[in-house]
Amino acid sequence: MEDCIFCQIAAGKIPAQLIYENDHVVAFLDNQPKSTGHTLIIPKKHFVSLLDIPTGLLSSTVENIQEIARIINIKLKPDGFNLCQNNGLIAGQTINHLHFHIIPRYQKLPLIDKKNLKKIAQLLKRQ
Ligand code: 5GP
Ligand code: ZN
Repeated sequence: MEDCIFCQIAAGKIPAQLIYENDHVVAFLDNQPKSTGHTLIIPKKHFVSLLDIPTGLLSSTVENIQEIARIINIKLKPDGFNLCQNNGLIAGQTINHLHFHIIPRYQKLPLIDKKNLKKIAQLLKRQ
C-alpha cells in the first residue's frame, strides 16, 4: 500500500534501523522505543491485523519472531521481554500494517542507551 509507512520501510523507501530480513518478513527498531532493543517485526506484504494474514505465513512469521527474540536475548541480555501485538485503534494500534513488538525488559540499566538506535541495530545485525 502506497500510503502505508511500514510498506515503505519494507520496500526500503523509508529508512529504518533494520536488524533482520528474509523474503517475507522484516524487523527493525522502533523509532520511539519503550526500552533498549524495542523491535518491530512485520510481514513485507500489507495486512491490517492478525485476522487478515494467511495462517501459513503467520506460522512462519512466528518462527522468525522466535529467531529474532533469541538474537536479542543473546546480544542484549535482557532479563525478560514482552511480545505484543495490537489490533484496532481501541486496542492501541496506531499503524494499520500488522506488526509484532518485542520489548526487552531489564532489571538494571542496559549498557547501550535506548536512544542509540544505530549502535543497537549494528549489534543485533552482527551474527
Ligand atoms: P502500535 O501502537 O501500532 O502497536 O505500534 C506502532 C509502533 O510503530 C510504535 O511503537 C511507534 O513508535 C512505531 N513507529 C511509528 N512510525 C514509525 C516509523 O516511521 N519508524 C519506526 N522505526 N517505527 C515507527
Ligand atoms: Zn503496509
